[in-house]
Amino acid sequence: MTLVVKAGLVWTGSREIEGGWVLARDGMIAQVGSGVAPHADEVVDDPNCVAMPGLVNAHDHMYQWATRGYVPDGTLFEWLRALYPVWARMDAEVVRVAARAAMAKLLLSGCTLSSDHHYVFPHGQAGIFEALVETARELGIRFHPCRGSMSLGESKGGLPPDSVVEEHDAILADTEEMIRRYHDPRPGSMCRVVVAPCSPFSVTPQLMRDSAALARKHGVRLHTHVAETLDEERFCVENFGMRPYKLMEDLGWTGDDVWYAHGIHLSDAEVSRVAEVKTGIAHCPSSNMRLGAGACRVADLVRAGARVGLGVDGSASNEDANLAMEAHQALLLARVRATSPQALDARAAWMLATRGGAECLGRDDCATLEAGKCADIACFRIDDLAHAGIKDPLAGLALAPPARAQTVVVNGRVVVREGRLLTADEGEVAREIAATSARMAG
Ligand SMILES: [Zn+2]
Repeated sequence: MTLVVKAGLVWTGSREIEGGWVLARDGMIAQVGSGVAPHADEVVDDPNCVAMPGLVNAHDHMYQWATRGYVPDGTLFEWLRALYPVWARMDAEVVRVAARAAMAKLLLSGCTLSSDHHYVFPHGQAGIFEALVETARELGIRFHPCRGSMSLGESKGGLPPDSVVEEHDAILADTEEMIRRYHDPRPGSMCRVVVAPCSPFSVTPQLMRDSAALARKHGVRLHTHVAETLDEERFCVENFGMRPYKLMEDLGWTGDDVWYAHGIHLSDAEVSRVAEVKTGIAHCPSSNMRLGAGACRVADLVRAGARVGLGVDGSASNEDANLAMEAHQALLLARVRATSPQALDARAAWMLATRGGAECLGRDDCATLEAGKCADIACFRIDDLAHAGIKDPLAGLALAPPARAQTVVVNGRVVVREGRLLTADEGEVAREIAATSARMAG
């Protein structure tokens, strides 16, 4: 099975090719070129588009699609305390409907590879992680589900109520089972499982340590939230006598198999250290601004050589899930933080949205358009009213982010054509998430 995607401009991740094309064979890129395209079983011709590597979502909580718009003006801890009891009512069907909405919106925004950090497993509710994996297969997105967890309930000094935390041994056993069942380490993999206890204020230090050991035993990656807010920093200093980054390092959570969400409140020494040990940072600018959490030191991290990707974060703290929008927000927020328009340029923002995210997720086979890589491609129109006539289309698409992609290819398969999702009915997904959100609101 072969596919050719032709575009007015192809940005490979390093080169810009006018009138370029990408040839995919059996899910992988066979050739990239310009001029007359080779014959293929299927042809997508987008002369009015920029084609680029599919965008990568390095941090998300897809279940939160069922609880959007709550506590619109709260801090992270206020927002979490209000939402934990709502999330305690979740079951596998809620997760399935929410994941369909999240994945549909991500695919429509040009995202082809997404992680999902799922850490709420209410007592007695089976099949939640399974629902995520099945939905990714159904919608056709490349997926890294992170088996999250919470074990430090209120009665032990944690933030979440005891009703949403699990037992230490049960968490590790179920995580290992999910790795055994779903993790595919091969190049071109459509599903890789990640070990992901939630945060220093919802997980015991022992679970952090044991989770790292479990992940390393199976050669899978590690993910958690670190240095998101000053409240978290205070919690760690008061409870553990050290700052969040130092705590995580003490617990064995550094190295090139680890990526953190946020990494906002890092000192100069911590920025250097993150870069040195090749731990990734998933920057989530919209969520950070929504919660007033702070501004990640993206420009400093990039300059230090750190791996930095982008995430939409859960849709309860970013009511959208549009990776192109995050590239836009990252560009603007970096400039605000540095009070300099040179802090981050458009091409650097697209790098965060593509290769930076793939580095966080450990995918050297994704996020560049070159022979031998996964055939994951996003095409954005530059002839619509939002972009028509715009000078420097790559800069233009970052400064005026597209609401949706024109064409999206995952694993050599067209999943979005002419701005419409082919793997699910968008209207039906919207009706289902409205009904489920109403049910969750009680
Ligand atoms: Zn998060």
